[in-house]
Amino acid sequence: MTNPLIGTSWKMNLTASEADGWFRAFVPLVADLTDRELFVLPPFTAIWVARERLRGSSIAWGAQDVHPDDSGAHTGDVSAPMLADLGCRYVEVGHSERRRDHGETPTLIGAKLRAILRWGMTPLLCVGETAEAPVEVAAPLVLADLEACLASLPAPDVGRIVVAYEPAWAIGVGAIAAPAARVGAVQRLLADSLLGRAEGRPPRILYGGSVDEAAAGRLLAEPGVDGLFVGRYALDPERFARIARAGLGPPPEPGHAVGRDNVEGRAR
Ligand code: PEP
Repeated sequence: MTNPLIGTSWKMNLTASEADGWFRAFVPLVADLTDRELFVLPPFTAIWVARERLRGSSIAWGAQDVHPDDSGAHTGDVSAPMLADLGCRYVEVGHSERRRDHGETPTLIGAKLRAILRWGMTPLLCVGETAEAPVEVAAPLVLADLEACLASLPAPDVGRIVVAYEPAWAIGVGAIAAPAARVGAVQRLLADSLLGRAEGRPPRILYGGSVDEAAAGRLLAEPGVDGLFVGRYALDPERFARIARAGLGPPPEPGHAVGRDNVEGRAR
């Protein structure tokens, strides 16, 4: 049983200066957490701030996209070696907004996965159906997309990725998180399929889509949900800290020795 993996992508929000304030507020709020793995994906412009503020903590950082090539004539793009050099551990690919806004296909997503793995980072592959549908309709659609994105990956590499199940209809302002039982049912089917594909080392599967403090506890209690991927409710560091603690007891009093030990004693 691994610890839940809980992360956020800020999408196109927070300047580098605002990011600095976010990290200063957030890090002490979760310094005592030893049974959760946390990560933050700021915009490209604030990754260096994440490196400054998170170095020496157990919180990982990463990026929201990458170009499949390592270098070259690709104006405005950012490559995997550039991200690795900034200490990124996770790189997100396949989000429904990038598929919608940039026409990203499973073939391109597969090439990005290979670039991320080539540079020793962990891809966070987002998949999910676009329209709300019963589990027996949605799950085969998601599985087919997953298979298409993973088609060019050798089996051992499939075990090196993390999957985020993100039904597009549950994402963003006006939406609410999908019911935990439904999420668990889809994710257990994905896990079964990935188990064969990854030769015994299946990827972890996170849920993403309108996760707030209340939904977080329900989702983490659901078998098949290995963690959470959080969008807008993580833009407030106090809310993200509460989501990160979902299902645990109240935080220790300020100055509690465990917190100080954790911050200073754990290398990234
Ligand atoms: C997302 O888009 O990946 C996401 C989880 O967003 P939100 O939590 O804002 O729905």
